Amino acid sequence: MIYDAIVIGAGHNGLTSAGYLARRGKSVLVLERRDVVGGAALTSEFSPGFKNSEFSYVVSLLDPSVIRDLELARYGLQIMHREGASITFSPDGCLWLPSKLEDAHKQIARYSSRDADNYLQFDEILEGVCKTFRPLARNAPFDVSASLFSQIGNAFTTGRILSNAQPEMRSHIAELMTKSIGNYLDQWFETDILKGTLAYSGSVGNFASPYHPSTAYVLLHHVFGQVNGKTGAWGHARGGMGSITEALAKSAQASGVMIKTDSEVAGALLNGNKIDGVRLANGEEYRSEVVIANCHPNILFGDIIKYDELPEDFCRRVKGYRSESGSFRINLALSDLPKFPQLNTFDVHPKILLNGSNNIAPSIPYIEKAYQDACEFGWSKEPVIEFCLPSLIDDSLAPNGAHVMSLFCQHFRRYLPNSMNWVEEKERAADLIIKTVENYSPGFQKLIVGKQINSPLDIEEKLNMVGGDIFHGALHIDQLYSMRPVAGAGNYRMPITGLYLGGSGAHPGGGVSGLPGKNCASVVLQDM
Ligand SMILES: Cc1cc2nc3c(=O)[nH]c(=O)nc-3n(C[C@H](O)[C@H](O)[C@H](O)COP(=O)(O)OP(=O)(O)OC[C@H]3O[C@@H](n4cnc5c(N)ncnc54)[C@H](O)[C@@H]3O)c2cc1C
Repeated sequence: MIYDAIVIGAGHNGLTSAGYLARRGKSVLVLERRDVVGGAALTSEFSPGFKNSEFSYVVSLLDPSVIRDLELARYGLQIMHREGASITFSPDGCLWLPSKLEDAHKQIARYSSRDADNYLQFDEILEGVCKTFRPLARNAPFDVSASLFSQIGNAFTTGRILSNAQPEMRSHIAELMTKSIGNYLDQWFETDILKGTLAYSGSVGNFASPYHPSTAYVLLHHVFGQVNGKTGAWGHARGGMGSITEALAKSAQASGVMIKTDSEVAGALLNGNKIDGVRLANGEEYRSEVVIANCHPNILFGDIIKYDELPEDFCRRVKGYRSESGSFRINLALSDLPKFPQLNTFDVHPKILLNGSNNIAPSIPYIEKAYQDACEFGWSKEPVIEFCLPSLIDDSLAPNGAHVMSLFCQHFRRYLPNSMNWVEEKERAADLIIKTVENYSPGFQKLIVGKQINSPLDIEEKLNMVGGDIFHGALHIDQLYSMRPVAGAGNYRMPITGLYLGGSGAHPGGGVSGLPGKNCASVVLQDM
């Protein structure tokens, strides 16, 4: 059979592309190398009776249009709001940022009334920037190297979106796209723990100094989403992130998509400069004149399509694509809810305080030090940690009274110095992370009854995420928008006719948004 389209990879973006194409009557085959669908949006039972999202663990970016168009609620998806927003721990006390703005103002004022007032304006500006940014994320960028005539539509859409923003808002967008997160926050605030809280969002999946230009963009990337209509809020998918991809797979299959697991694509069938299908590692061949790659750009180019099959300029750029996010991920099964004595100062139940995002990133210098340590020793001696307790709002994850904890830690290099390797080092790194939490929660380690550890090497090997990069490549200004993944291939069309990139290596980048997959499908439909 010749398919209208083949999708390489059943991550959430691949399933999204497949679903949109099938709903327009196209025959689609999805080929996934693992024995499960979902890519980085997956739930697993990691200890008897305890299950949790194995990789990505919180949801905000998933575009409401994808949920609606592909009827994900009908296929079981339920996104749950977290009341807690965030707590940041430091040796001198903690900062609680509740989701209600007036409550957050009150909490920040405990440290600085100037910062509390500035925070209100800061929040309003971020909200305004997100309003402009969202439509940019939902549309294909223009291709800087294509003929002007062919790009008029996309360039016009981009211009219209930007001109709709207030002139002052455009300056804020320019700042957030180019400045370092450290420099940006230093302009606004004086309180270390507040700056640490906000800078954490700029360091997630971003192996760079907080004073590296364009790291402020990563903060914007983490706030342009929403949960049940609330901008910048993060929530949990009931049953873990796997319930998103299970719903996407069911929706796609109901529209006729064929999904084959254990099917690693190892080569492309080319007819001159046109794609004609793919070859699996086991030698099976599947034909189609349209192939959408959901995999990492450096898997598509280099592994599946060999460098000598590519135009020279493109090949050089793809080889130079930067991909290393420095992320380390642990799941813990806990026999009880851990106690954090610092929370006793609040007149609110710990179950509410702890049900959001809990950070150990008490200042920008702390994050900078973690980055510098990682450059020298491979990982930070005082790690940057976020932990969540999704079982506080989702009773399907752990036995009654017990809990699961997701820990997400930054500045752990994929390649370690001095001949160290992750196979030998990962338990040591995990112990350091756990001890760091114990510093704020005496007795924490005794509650641990099960563990799941994913080092940067595990992330790379399990998911084919090159460099262990959770976003399929750094989210810096030179790898964004029309430059994602590289200049000249920024609108999903790759330099081989019929070949498209529709994963996180394409605009608007990583995160469980479904937007690369959706935008890519609409470009494919235009071309069909
Ligand atoms: C540890 C971690 C934590 C994260 N936390 C969050 C979070 O909390 N919230 C959030 O929004 N985002 C988070 N992210 C980022 C987000 O999960 C990813 O950016 C997103 O899921 C990537 O989706 P994708 O569909 O583009 O690609 P992937 O999920 O990487 O899917 C690609 C698929 O292609 C398959 N594949 C690769 N090569 C081949 C081949 N040759 N043949 C066939 N199949 C192939 C892979 O097996 C995989 O299933 C996190 C990611 C990680 C790793």
